[in-house]
This record gives sequence, C-alpha cells and structure tokens, in this order.
Amino acid sequence: MAENLSDNKIKKCPVASRCGGCRWIGKDYQEQLKAKQARFRRLLEPYCRPEEMIGMEEPEHYRNKVHAVFGEDKKHNIISGIYEEKSHRIVPVDSCLIEDSRADEIIVSVRGLLRSFKIRPYNEDTGYGLLRHVLIRTGRSTGQIMVVLVLASPVMPSKNHFVEALLKLHPEITTIVINVNDRDTSMVLGEKEQVIYGRGYIEDKLCGRTFRISPKSFYQVNAVQAEKLYGKVLEYAELTGRETVVDAYCGTGTIGMAAADRARRIIGVELNPDAVRDARSNARRNDVKNIEFYQNDAGKFLAHMAEQGEGADVILMDPPRSGSSEEFLNAVVKLSPGKVIYVSCNPDTLVRDLNYLKKRGYEVIKCVAVDMFPFTEEIESVCLLSRRKADGSRKAPRDGRRASGDVRKAPRDGRRASGDVRKAPRDGRRASGDVRKAPRDGRRASGDVRKAPRGGQSSRKNREEQSGRGVKSAEKEQKNGQKKKYSGK
Ligand code: SAH
Repeated sequence: MAENLSDNKIKKCPVASRCGGCRWIGKDYQEQLKAKQARFRRLLEPYCRPEEMIGMEEPEHYRNKVHAVFGEDKKHNIISGIYEEKSHRIVPVDSCLIEDSRADEIIVSVRGLLRSFKIRPYNEDTGYGLLRHVLIRTGRSTGQIMVVLVLASPVMPSKNHFVEALLKLHPEITTIVINVNDRDTSMVLGEKEQVIYGRGYIEDKLCGRTFRISPKSFYQVNAVQAEKLYGKVLEYAELTGRETVVDAYCGTGTIGMAAADRARRIIGVELNPDAVRDARSNARRNDVKNIEFYQNDAGKFLAHMAEQGEGADVILMDPPRSGSSEEFLNAVVKLSPGKVIYVSCNPDTLVRDLNYLKKRGYEVIKCVAVDMFPFTEEIESVCLLSRRKADGSRKAPRDGRRASGDVRKAPRDGRRASGDVRKAPRDGRRASGDVRKAPRDGRRASGDVRKAPRGGQSSRKNREEQSGRGVKSAEKEQKNGQKKKYSGK
C-alpha cells in the first residue's frame, strides 16, 4: 500500500475505518494541503494573511515513533496492531502509510519470534502473559533504531537469545530496552527500564544539533517537518546574537538549542521533569553554554520573571493543544518583548491567544502553517507577533525597559545578574527552588504512548497524540477531565 504519492493515487488501508488515525487517507496530498491552508487562512483572517503552507515532498511514513499493542485473537493466534477506535479491541496491523516502514517490519518480526520463544502476549483480563506493547523509535538522520519491549513483569525468559534472534533479523537495530509496566494503567510505558542491548537511547540530528532520544523523551514525530518548522521560527526571530530569548514550553529544548548560537542567552521552561532532564543533557551533549532550563509551569515562571523586573527580547512559545494560559499571556504583556513567536499545534486555541495579545498591544506580522501530520486534519503553524508602539506603530520600549536586541547588563561570563530568576544551577542539578510540579504518575511522560484512544477521538496515531505530541494530548485530556481509561468500554 505504499505506492508513490506523486502519482496521486488515492490511498487505501484495510483498517482505515477501524483505526481512524489517518482521517484523510483517501485524500490526494495536494488537496490535503489546500484544505488545511484554507482553514488556516479562514481562522487567521482577522490577524494576517498566511504565507504558503509548507508541505512534504514525500508525505508517507513520516512517523519516527511507532507503537503496537500485542494480544491474541479468538483462536489464540498472536496479533499486534492498534486499538480499534473508541474500543479496547486490537485491530491487527502489519504496515501503515504514515509510520516508518522499518519499524513496522520489526514489529512483525517480534510477533514471529514470540511463538518460537513461547512468550505469550499479556492478557489484561486474566493478567497472564508477558509482552504488552512494542515501541520503536527511529533517528532519521542517524539511522539508529530503538526497540522498547514493554513487559508486564521484569523477567523475560531467554532474553539474550531473543535479542540475538531479533538482531539477526534486523541488524539495523541499535538498542533494545525492556520497559516494565506492571500496573493497570492507561500509560503504555512503566517506570522501570532495563537496557538489554546497546546504549538505551538513540540520537537524531535537527538543525545541526544532536538530540538524545530515550524511550520516554518527547521528540517531534516528523523530523523532516520539524526542521522546517524550527527554520521558520529562526527566520521570524531574526536574532542578532544579542538577545535574551525565552523558549517556553520547550520540551527537550530543541527550538532553544537551534537558536542558541544566534542569541546571547536562552532560557527554557518546561513542566515535564523528564523532558527537562533530556534538555539539560542535550545542551551538554552539544556544548551549548548559553542555555538554561527550568522545570516549572511556563505561566508561573514568566509571571515570576515579570515580577522580578526581568527582560526578554524574544519569547518563543510552543504550548500544548489547549493553548497558553492567561497567566502566561499576561506575563508576556508585562515582560513586553519586541517579538513573540507562537508555535501552535491547534489553530483554534492559537487564534484565541492571538486575540488576547492583539488587545494588549501585539500584532501578528507573519504566519505560516507547516504540515507536520499528513493524512490527518492537524495543523501546525508559526506566527510572528510584534509589539506596537503607543502611537500604533511597531515596537519600542514604553518605559525605559530594554528594547529588543539591546545588550543586557548581565555579565557575559554566565554569572547571574541581579534580579535574575535563575533557579537551577548551571550544571543541570536541581536547585532547591526548582520544584517538581508535574505529577509523575497521572500525566503522560514525554515520549510515552497512550494505550487507549481519547473519548471521541480516533485511536491509532491519536491514542498517542493526535497532533504527534504525547504530552500535548495528555494535557488536553487532563483539561477535558477524561480520567477513564478506556473511553469505549
Ligand atoms: N517545543 C518543544 C515541545 C513542544 S510540546 C518541541 O518543539 O519539541 C509542548 C510542551 O509543553 C510539552 O513538552 C509539555 O510538557 C509542555 N507543557 C505543557 N504544559 C506546560 C506548562 N503549563 N508549562 C510548561 N510546559 C508545559
């Protein structure tokens, strides 16, 4: 089912109606782009006219993170695939139009090996069996592949032989990790991990930087488009090397790191402690010294910055699907940066937030949609906002505070300037003031994958992240108060 799309063939998938992941599987790609652009243009009309949408040249098999649930059919044959939309039944899937094909092949091989190794898939009703899920992550530019075997118990019989057999079939695998999930939970990944082959993580390159991706790290699922998205952020930011930049909702710090050698200082803030840990390690790995990461709610952090009289020249923000908070947007207005660059995966919340900022002195200068999720209806976009002067023209500090591009008074050697809100030490350790605010359990960790679809939403890709963003969807889910595990049961 993977013919080249350039011949404009209408794609078919045998499980499309039960999966619901690619709602636009039957739609020609150029038509998909047109439809997304039309919707984006309609929504953004009151603010600015979007640039041409950035699509993919090869829009298939873009997902670098692939997940399969394992189980048995009525005849006790082992099956692997996805949960049927709004249910807990497994739809067998061997290949998928939008997933990395190498990952799909490995999942099929694992299924074949289970039989020879007499390993049973886990049965949630009876509690018997071992293998619950397989998660595969691939590095586009490095070719590295990670296989995560999610088990119901830590003991895997003939583990070494299993690894040997799998590597024989797929020498391209660079690391294999056992993840133990012995809880009755809607999370796919459990807390405990054991590396049984390789380094336990893979790496990928984006915008000239190398990022480490461990089983639970958040990483954009479409790396080709992520690079274009970040490229637009940098283009809009027009950094000169003198700016203080806030990278809010920074995840593992990818955007801030891409911007680091064009700015004086980058301050990243992110709620998820695992992502912050990865961000700090990524900064060290890339020898980026002018970036700091804080684990905190972005709104609280920014409000604190504003209270302390801190300045920021550019604020980059990439909030979850639910958009930003009033606290955050208020703090943006108080900090009054010359530029705000808003990366959004949900145009509805984007326009809500743009409206808020527009009423408080900002105007949208440019915007563009980037197709991160072909064959779905999701729209990712970047907007550049600029602060208006009191007379209506663009930007200049109102009150003698630093203007965009102004050189800051903080010492160049990285010591803290007075009034600085740094809470964590440079070496990545947690400072006493650095409070963990994200619950470890209920909230999905970055990179984690949902086992069951969200209520009213489709399953396959969505069960993880409709927009390709695990944490974002989890946030949305929490917001909607959907605590039930299986919406369809
Ligand atoms: N900019 C990153 C990640 C974007 S996903 C990238 O491009 O890879 C959105 C991020 O916002 C997630 O990592 C999520 O954990 C984080 N997040 C959600 N709510 C938050 C909040 N209130 N404060 C700070 N970060 C938050």
